[in-house]
Amino acid sequence: TDKNARLKRMIVGLGMSGLSCARFCQRQGWSFDLCDSREQPTNLSSVQQEFSHSRVVCGPLQGELLASYDELIVSPGVALSEPAIQQAIAAGVTISGDIQLFKQSVKKPVIAITGSNGKSTVTTLVGDILNACGLKALVGGNIGLPALDLTLDSAADVYVLELSSFQLETTTDLGACAATILNLSEDHMDRYSGMADYLAAKQRIFQQAAAAVVNRDDQASQPQQELSQWSFGEQTNAGQQAFGLLQQDGQDWICYAGEPLLSATDIKIKGRHNLANVMAALALVAAAAPQLNINWRDGLEAVRQFAGLAHRCQWVANINGVDCYNDSKGTNVGSTLAAINGLGHADGKIWLLAGGVDKDQSFNDLVKPCQQFVAEVLLFGRDASAIAEDLQGCKTRVVNTLDQAFGLALKAAQPGDVILLSPACASFDQFKNYAVRGEYFCQLVKDAEVSYV
Ligand code: ADP
Repeated sequence: TDKNARLKRMIVGLGMSGLSCARFCQRQGWSFDLCDSREQPTNLSSVQQEFSHSRVVCGPLQGELLASYDELIVSPGVALSEPAIQQAIAAGVTISGDIQLFKQSVKKPVIAITGSNGKSTVTTLVGDILNACGLKALVGGNIGLPALDLTLDSAADVYVLELSSFQLETTTDLGACAATILNLSEDHMDRYSGMADYLAAKQRIFQQAAAAVVNRDDQASQPQQELSQWSFGEQTNAGQQAFGLLQQDGQDWICYAGEPLLSATDIKIKGRHNLANVMAALALVAAAAPQLNINWRDGLEAVRQFAGLAHRCQWVANINGVDCYNDSKGTNVGSTLAAINGLGHADGKIWLLAGGVDKDQSFNDLVKPCQQFVAEVLLFGRDASAIAEDLQGCKTRVVNTLDQAFGLALKAAQPGDVILLSPACASFDQFKNYAVRGEYFCQLVKDAEVSYV
């Protein structure tokens, strides 16, 4: 720690996570500087005030300057491939991030969750299950509070962290008591050179882990090292450390070691992907149970109670017989696919509102499910036309805004149809973030509801 105090540190990025790092370093009594690639970060003056002992450098990152530090604490929004960061790495500078700092300072067990989709749902549910088992679980990371802000509460028994691939890039030896890659599908191809590169970042979640939770239906979730394994998947599996599905009385049941555990009708969150999410959450708690000294079955009531998170296939209202769902968190093709398959109870009934910033994804995987379940795809936002070209053979219409897309859908939808906002895209061309986009949609729906009654 003496050495720790003497290190020359630079925090790169003045967002939420960078600031949590700065506050953490300050609490440790470590000195540090701050920088941001923006010329005028919105919070600049308050940052300068709060960290008056630090130098704050704004504008394009300077390789020479960064190379003069011992350690860079890099925010998830900054790509390590930036030339200035690469120059620092070449000069021997250590790269760290908020999760690595967290790991170095925290003594309590950590459950770690990554994947392309379902992270927030599973992370929240794991926290609920652990609390129902009588522990004090603190939940954060890429969801809610930054991990380092969780350490302010010293009463935690266990931490549950949602981690993005970007956070994992700067994390080297997490040592989770249970870790998982829930699934892998194309996302963030604007930051990675390809799927292998993206997967390699996610695989870092297993470094020094005590146990892995593996998705039997997704090969990419397999750790590359030997680890005690728990698993989940669609097939019934009688293995001792395995969750699966089975059919009984015409219902899907989640089973453990081949024995029925919970009926799908006991679970409030809908869609097959959510059965996978529940199995993943249970497997994580079960994998961590010996170290936490709990019985995971004590948490089953929390699963029955879990009503899901806002903006994830969230039912908003029924207008004239048309159910409207807000899935604004569907920000990539894989998530929209799950939403369509989850809500697609009959052919051609969904009016899909999609579009925004396409993150260089291919939309071909949506063609088949759209042909089956979707009446028309109403595309809005920056990359709408490009997406329409990818959706050859589907009925599509390109408009400018979400308002227009919703207006057209509402006009055309028949009783029994579904209007689904699941953009498969990032929102920042037209909205501050996915949550603002989702709230905006809910307001459109509520306004329409009023004019219909
Ligand atoms: P993340 O935190 O990884 O973005 P969320 O739990 O917030 O995941 O869910 C985001 C979206 O992904 C949801 O709106 C839903 O449509 C979809 N989704 C959720 N779970 C899964 C899953 N297991 N597989 C595929 N898609 C999923």
